[in-house]
Amino acid sequence: MKYYAKPLSKLIAELSKLPGIGGKTAQRLAFHILSLPDAEARALADSITQAKSSMHYCSVCGNLTDTDPCSVCSDTARDRHLRRGKPP
Ligand SMILES: [Zn+2]
Repeated sequence: MKYYAKPLSKLIAELSKLPGIGGKTAQRLAFHILSLPDAEARALADSITQAKSSMHYCSVCGNLTDTDPCSVCSDTARDRHLRRGKPP
């Protein structure tokens, strides 16, 4: 294994934890990220942080959502329709 400075090694290690990402791909992604303009790299990091903090599972249906209940479950017209049990 090549020696990389600690911040780069950490980035490669974190990327390689992602599903389907092996060591070589993690290295390629890390070098790509380092070549990005600062704003693009920050947008990538921020999107991960924001999605992680705002997305969760709907307490009613279990879908991923940023509201609880999700937009489908909080749709009152849809709710009434479902309670009557009639097909669309
Ligand atoms: Zn829902």
